[in-house]
Amino acid sequence: MRIAVLSDVHSNLVALEAVLAHAGAVDAVWHTGDIVGYGPDPDGVVARLAAAGAIGVRGNHDAAAVGGREIESFNREARQAMEWTRANIAPETKAWLADLPQRRTLDDFTLVHGSPLDPTWEYVTDERSARENIAALETPHGLHGHTHVPVAWFGRADDPKARVHGEVATDGERRTFDGRRAFLNPGSVGQPRYGGPEATYIVFDEAARTVEFRLVPYDVDTTQEKIYDAGLPPYLAERLAVGQ
Ligand code: ZN
Repeated sequence: MRIAVLSDVHSNLVALEAVLAHAGAVDAVWHTGDIVGYGPDPDGVVARLAAAGAIGVRGNHDAAAVGGREIESFNREARQAMEWTRANIAPETKAWLADLPQRRTLDDFTLVHGSPLDPTWEYVTDERSARENIAALETPHGLHGHTHVPVAWFGRADDPKARVHGEVATDGERRTFDGRRAFLNPGSVGQPRYGGPEATYIVFDEAARTVEFRLVPYDVDTTQEKIYDAGLPPYLAERLAVGQ
């Protein structure tokens, strides 16, 4: 099985199409949430992911889109985009988002948006939170998102509390599990924040126990135009060009 893992698509259909084309024939598509919010195509990304049979979990933006109080914690632009999303999504989109669970076990992975300790909100950005969350996993490995930065964290299988190692991953980088516990963040398809504009995702090869990080160029200008045309905050278009 080769599995494409996507996160934080954020209603960016142009980026999602580029990533799915880049992934080619895979056996499954998994996601770690924030399918909508910020971007201009919530119905389009949900329809495309549903057609691809994607399975995954709910992010804070997905929860807000179906009426959750998460919106109260959003900054100004995120809130404006979420109010637009709520007003514009189709009933089928809302139903698909409402069905997403907070966490899900697939193969020997736990999928969450933020972290195993706080599936909705925690940003795993440092060694300590990665170590605590690897220790909290009820499966050998974990997949998460939320930070929009592609990172591979690896811990010791025989001692989950031992120091873990994490690195921001780059294009084509392949990591082998080597019996270690993996806690992987594919970054973001629709609003990358690693310092470059390319969409990011990972492909997990179940037999080889390897994961490959991939960066995919897409037509940023088209998504930016859609954001302006929809009347969404211009900052949400501008940041896509720099990946911040
Ligand atoms: Zn997000």
